[in-house]
Amino acid sequence: MKVLENLKHIRSNIEEACKQSGRSPEEVTVIAVTKYVSVERAQEAVEAGILHLGENRDEGLLSKWDHLGDKPTWHYIGTMQTRKVKNVIDKITYLHSLDRLSLAKEVNKRSNQKVKCFVQVNVSGEESKHGIDPEAVLDFIKDLEQFEHIQVEGLMTMAPYTNDESQLRQCFRQLKALQQEVQQLHLEFAPCRELSMGMSNDYRIAVEEGATMVRIGSALVGEEAEV
Ligand SMILES: *Cc1c(COP(=O)(O)O)cnc(C)c1O
Repeated sequence: MKVLENLKHIRSNIEEACKQSGRSPEEVTVIAVTKYVSVERAQEAVEAGILHLGENRDEGLLSKWDHLGDKPTWHYIGTMQTRKVKNVIDKITYLHSLDRLSLAKEVNKRSNQKVKCFVQVNVSGEESKHGIDPEAVLDFIKDLEQFEHIQVEGLMTMAPYTNDESQLRQCFRQLKALQQEVQQLHLEFAPCRELSMGMSNDYRIAVEEGATMVRIGSALVGEEAEV
């Protein structure tokens, strides 16, 4: 399938989910996750009108950056190794995986401007998942005040891999509730307006529950996407 066809499908699903939940589709940004695909396929996504691309490895990001430059806005969505920060920090606008103070310190040191960060939260509690425990999120965010280049744009989570709709919904709702708690702190460096949640499998539910950024790989740019 062409990326453009997949995108039309996904956009119409997002519109439907917005209608269900009384939201406006303009509130939802689609990030094409290009980590599994070629530079050509990423290029096709940009030509289809996708303005946001996500990668989870420095090599992938840099090789695509060589071809596409800053035409798309770049999102780093995967676990970030501290020593890799310097390779990508001046290429990305958003970091979706801030999960420890040592990483915040390195980002702060290597960037000379504010980096839009998502604090990654392990809502589902699965051991295999990265991210901060929900109970520790508020204290973690307060600790970020010391870093002048860190801006907390929002929270991010990866839902458990399941088709159990109620479990997915509960996960997304918990992230939304946590976002509201952060907003009530009224921290200048942590407006926390965004919610990065929803992937190929679960973006419709994520949008119904308040996602403002969905990170979609296989259903959008996968060569054999089934939508
Ligand atoms: C790979 C990945 C995605 C996209 O996954 P799909 O299931 O292919 O849509 C989204 N978010 C993160 C953090 C990822 O690593």
